[in-house]
Amino acid sequence: MPDPALSTEILHTDPAGIARAADLLRAGALVALPTETVYGLAGDARNAQAVAAIYAAKGRPALNPLIVHLGSLEAAEDLAELCEGARACASTFWPGPLTLVAPLRAGHGLAPAVTAGLPTVALRVPAHPVARVVLEAFGGPLAAPSANPSGRISPTSAAHVMAGLSGRIAAVLDGGSCAVGVESTILGFEDGQPVLLRAGGVSPEALARVLGKAPAPRACGKITAPGQLASHYAPCAALRLNVTRPLPGEVWIGFGPDCAAAEMTLSATGDLQEAASRLFGVLHAADAMDRPIAVAPVPETGLGVAINDRLRRAAAPRV
Ligand code: AMP
Ligand code: MG
Repeated sequence: MPDPALSTEILHTDPAGIARAADLLRAGALVALPTETVYGLAGDARNAQAVAAIYAAKGRPALNPLIVHLGSLEAAEDLAELCEGARACASTFWPGPLTLVAPLRAGHGLAPAVTAGLPTVALRVPAHPVARVVLEAFGGPLAAPSANPSGRISPTSAAHVMAGLSGRIAAVLDGGSCAVGVESTILGFEDGQPVLLRAGGVSPEALARVLGKAPAPRACGKITAPGQLASHYAPCAALRLNVTRPLPGEVWIGFGPDCAAAEMTLSATGDLQEAASRLFGVLHAADAMDRPIAVAPVPETGLGVAINDRLRRAAAPRV
């Protein structure tokens, strides 16, 4: 329930706004901030109350661990033991849209709820200049899942954050829209072998180039990450996939030049990078039209893997 006493501040990304965000975070309050993937709902990862407040604000199941955001690879190595493959990926893709899952070190200092009690932690060094400057001003690890009510479409603008969480969080830093637009890729290692836990902003092909082989898909049926639930990123309206001919009344979301008749498009030229950056914004806009949604086919290569993953979950029967 939104707290009528809590009115969410909208902060600018000037020095005063950054300082206010860091002060709120130090006081254990929650601040939504832009990252290159989607807006994150940040709280002090060492403060059990702040972490509990993240789960409460999102209505997120307590079994779904959070990603910890850090300023550097060194800060990550203080918290967890990175294997050789993880370190190679971190060196190549950090700062950027890659999350690494690694075993916690003793004395890590994180609130246990961050990892939902797991002996591993998910770590990321974001690239967005606003996220980086907040991390620096705050000076510690920030737990930050996507800044949306659990199970709904992820936010790629401050307005999306306000639509979902206004009155439930202390502030949102308005840094415009997110460039990557889909969540981070999550990579873990099992018995030293790389496992793709979630497709995202770094393509499987790019990971394979660094690892020398493609990461294995995660073992079927085993849920280790919340983005893995079948129904996720769900709009309120019904959604059909791979639609080349929409039905009367449907909002048709196109991709590529064959869909010139579409009401909205992920990318008129068929550019996957543009489609990823527009995906959640277009879904939010289509959802607001209160009609069934139909989406054109998107190729299953590069960022298309992450886009199709989100679309399949958005279309899945609700749990
Ligand atoms: P979100 O930030 O809402 O996009 O979700 C965070 C993602 O990180 C979820 O998919 C989590 O399950 C995943 N995650 C966080 N910690 C771990 C962990 N220790 N092992 C596996 N996945 C994790
Ligand atoms: Mg999320």
